[in-house]
Amino acid sequence: AMYVLTLLLIIIFKTIVVSSDTTFILITNECKIPSFPTFSKEAKEVFDPQNYTNCTDSELLTSTTVVNNTAYLHINGENEIYDEDEEPPTCCYSYVTRNGTDEEPDVGISVSECTHFNTTVRLESATVMVKCEKDSNLVYENVHNPITITEEVWKKQSITNTHNTPISVLILVIDSVSRINFNRTMPLTRKFLLNNKFTDFIAYNKVDDNTFPNCMALLSGLNLRQTYSKCNPREVGALDECPMIWYDFQKLGYVTAYAEDWADISTFNYNIKGFHKPPTDYYFKPYVEAAETLNVTRKEGMPYCAGPETEGERILNLAKDFAVTFKNQPSFGVFWMNTFSHNDINAPSGMDEKVANFFEELRNEDILRNNLVILLSDHGIRFGKFRQTIQGWFEERLPLAFISLPSWFKRQFQWEYKNFHNNTNKLISTYDLYMTLQDVLKKSAPNYKPSSSLACPKCQSLFSDINKQRSCRDAGIPEPWCTCVGEFTTKDPRITEEVNEEASKLALKEIRRWLEYEEPFSTSVTNIISSAVNLNRTRKSYLLFVVQTNTDAIYQILFRIRGV
Ligand SMILES: [Zn+2]
Repeated sequence: AMYVLTLLLIIIFKTIVVSSDTTFILITNECKIPSFPTFSKEAKEVFDPQNYTNCTDSELLTSTTVVNNTAYLHINGENEIYDEDEEPPTCCYSYVTRNGTDEEPDVGISVSECTHFNTTVRLESATVMVKCEKDSNLVYENVHNPITITEEVWKKQSITNTHNTPISVLILVIDSVSRINFNRTMPLTRKFLLNNKFTDFIAYNKVDDNTFPNCMALLSGLNLRQTYSKCNPREVGALDECPMIWYDFQKLGYVTAYAEDWADISTFNYNIKGFHKPPTDYYFKPYVEAAETLNVTRKEGMPYCAGPETEGERILNLAKDFAVTFKNQPSFGVFWMNTFSHNDINAPSGMDEKVANFFEELRNEDILRNNLVILLSDHGIRFGKFRQTIQGWFEERLPLAFISLPSWFKRQFQWEYKNFHNNTNKLISTYDLYMTLQDVLKKSAPNYKPSSSLACPKCQSLFSDINKQRSCRDAGIPEPWCTCVGEFTTKDPRITEEVNEEASKLALKEIRRWLEYEEPFSTSVTNIISSAVNLNRTRKSYLLFVVQTNTDAIYQILFRIRGV
């Protein structure tokens, strides 16, 4: 197991100047972020691209269509399961509904009795499970979720302001993908995005360790401490009170959606209580839970296949259906994918072509022309060997962030458009994205009053002129996650045996305190994996220290160095 401790301990250190020929993605007085080759020696050591893996060898036996806002479920007669022998399969369908407990209202589904049907049936409810048998053997099962416009959404008044065209927003998140790992593993998608006017924010820095706080930063502008004090997600129903921006979109007439695969670890449910009420007009958790009751095939521990479809493609299909269904209405959708990226640095490569095709379909459906589309990650990979390297340390903190604007944006908002493009190589944080989403609302509904991010009062919309000289502090990036530290090197005369010994001692003290009750006294450092200091520093000197202990745990510790 590997543990990541980002501690700030102070050790005494002599400052000397060592020259280097590193290049930087950003270099100012306040921030120096080194540039790493996509295929560096360390990256090549772990790089092992994968092919797409099918969840089934045959075509899907069932599908859904929506005609005049009515959904139908079909058995596909062309299918080989169907016509291989004379006897066609017998199929039945059930409706899936959200059905949590008092303790956990966001977890649990109920499945209605299975009703037999032939070839086509008109659906009365959105989420439908289908099972087919041949000679009393289950030969096929699946879950579908066609999107129709619900009565509540019909009733919604769209924004009645003739001067403003509301900007629809489609956010896709691939969990745990650094910008550089995206370049490495998804070159087709990247190429498509760059050829289709997506902007690559190269110095986008996360604001906290894992998914939940980075997601809250994006959607509420709060940090973890503020989230727990305002709307403690460990209490049933409290998450409903968090000021998620989708409620603002909803209030202004937007149709909203949230979908996420891998229900057990999903952002709002992993170790916390989830939502009491569905937080968005379209909330796909019951669909994902239902899919995960099918035969799940794991890949690197991730539930990659749920029945005959990958979970990732299920989310992509929902995103596309949602965007297409609400093409002519203001919409705000967040579609979060974990199951082809979360546990393995190479796994995204298997989905590159599928994700590229997805964006191509968005273009063909004119979604790219009319929506603001964001492809984002919350952080880089947090597990595995690469995470121990210096490049891995930076990549964990620099997730991918591509954004495309509606085609008419440039005409209507010239100053904002210019700023947006000038900001691509400035230091940007997740709180800036939160401010950007508010700015979208302000541009869509002039009466909307944006408020500053509580965690980062100085953070700004990407449509404003962000100060090139900003520091991590200005961007709300806490010191342990700040990449404005210059280049780390292991080859520095300052890293002496004495320094490593002193650092090991301090590290152990902290590790023991951190472990508390777990064998605190028997822990010892058995191996110093790497010890590096930062050059071309801005204000602070750091020692990045990776050690293995006698329990085979690996710790990565960031020391702040006090110079002499
Ligand atoms: Zn994550």
